[in-house]
Amino acid sequence: MEMKTIGIIGAMPSELADIRNVLNDAVVKTYAGYDFYICTYKDKLIINACCGIAKVNAALCTQVMIDKFDVDAIINTGVAGGMNNKVKVCDIVISDAVCSHDLELRLLENYPPYHSMFEADVNLIKAVGEVCNEKKIPNHVGRIVSGEAFVSDNKLKEDICTRLTPLAVDMETAAVGQCAYRNNIPFVSVRCISDNADDEGEMSFDEFEKIAAKTVAEIVLDTIEKL
Ligand code: SAH
Repeated sequence: MEMKTIGIIGAMPSELADIRNVLNDAVVKTYAGYDFYICTYKDKLIINACCGIAKVNAALCTQVMIDKFDVDAIINTGVAGGMNNKVKVCDIVISDAVCSHDLELRLLENYPPYHSMFEADVNLIKAVGEVCNEKKIPNHVGRIVSGEAFVSDNKLKEDICTRLTPLAVDMETAAVGQCAYRNNIPFVSVRCISDNADDEGEMSFDEFEKIAAKTVAEIVLDTIEKL
């Protein structure tokens, strides 16, 4: 059987650092300005890339990864803001459906791609959940929403929560999800909560970003074995 190819995309260098420490024998290829780190791990071909922050970066990097490496699955990893009281800082949120919170969704529903809520793959969701449970890390499966701003404002948080009832907010997941959907490739976004997207969000992010990035990197690496 041919070796499976798994793509891993993170936004910030800190979100790839712990993954690259383990996958340290990679060959690097650069396309459209993105460095793609290529190596084998647990009988899989792994491509990992740092896409940069926000949706344009995420979409572009995801499409280039799909076109150049023909990946069988994409895992979007990183940190995120918590959007539900049951989700605590350092918990893991595993995406089911993902969408933008700063775009009228009817614009995607009434025009191409005629779809605004992008579903993550059930097998990937299950694999990540199993790893979290084995590591005894609190984890939640639910909606992740993305937009072009770091949310650290009680009012904006409340508005997004009322409209979309997400578990987490970030700046890339919806773009990776839309791109994966268009290419018919299974995807999941796995995020460790760095802050609560509220008035204290910036401070919390500064304190917890590194530890949250490390936690989710370990989960993603362990997930590879199950795929
Ligand atoms: N305070 C930092 C923020 C960087 S952007 C700075 O100004 O340098 C935050 C990154 O982490 C994005 O890639 C996003 O996906 C994720 N993220 C974490 N918490 C978030 C939040 N509350 N709102 C939006 N994105 C968040």
